[in-house]
Amino acid sequence: MQILHRFAGSIQRYSEALSDPDRYRPDHCPQCAAQHPLRAHGFYTRTLVDIAFDGTVRIRRYLCCCCIRTVSLLPEFALPYLRFGIGVVALFLATRLLLGLTLKTAAAAARVAAMPYQRGQFWVRRFRRQAENLSAALAALIAPPGAPDFTSKALQMLESVGWIASHRFLFAGLRVHLLGWPAFLAPDGRIAALPPVAPSA
Ligand SMILES: [Zn+2]
Repeated sequence: MQILHRFAGSIQRYSEALSDPDRYRPDHCPQCAAQHPLRAHGFYTRTLVDIAFDGTVRIRRYLCCCCIRTVSLLPEFALPYLRFGIGVVALFLATRLLLGLTLKTAAAAARVAAMPYQRGQFWVRRFRRQAENLSAALAALIAPPGAPDFTSKALQMLESVGWIASHRFLFAGLRVHLLGWPAFLAPDGRIAALPPVAPSA
């Protein structure tokens, strides 16, 4: 299970801060009732493209000794299951959908000028599908503005609240993904398919 790790500095600072296992150690398990600190359980690496960053980052993992499940601490500037950070996605979508500029201009604004056209289209489609849910969820934080459609409404709300603050609220509180969970993880970011039932003897 992924939970968010609140971190406001640069990605370089994040990598330094991560070396200390105690610094962000969860004091209880989010997956079972165990009320004791989790045990450090190494790292995994993932790729990340963000404003002025294109490389890999380490993600710290903890283990709950009661339920034997791991918890990974995702920095809040990264989106689960997406290589691109919130900074890039936010600039791209706001430029394309709020300002109505071309995909190429939006990619340049997000400083990913070499981005394939299909990737931009894919983000736009996912965001549009998710916009009504986002508007409804973010209404807990800010009054919904008058807007011609849910896409503009959600974008205006994200811009007002701040994309990372919104992501923190949506993901940590409601397990809503900014761009919607991929189908195999719907509805809340956990693998939905049940293991096959063994035939009874
Ligand atoms: Zn547990």
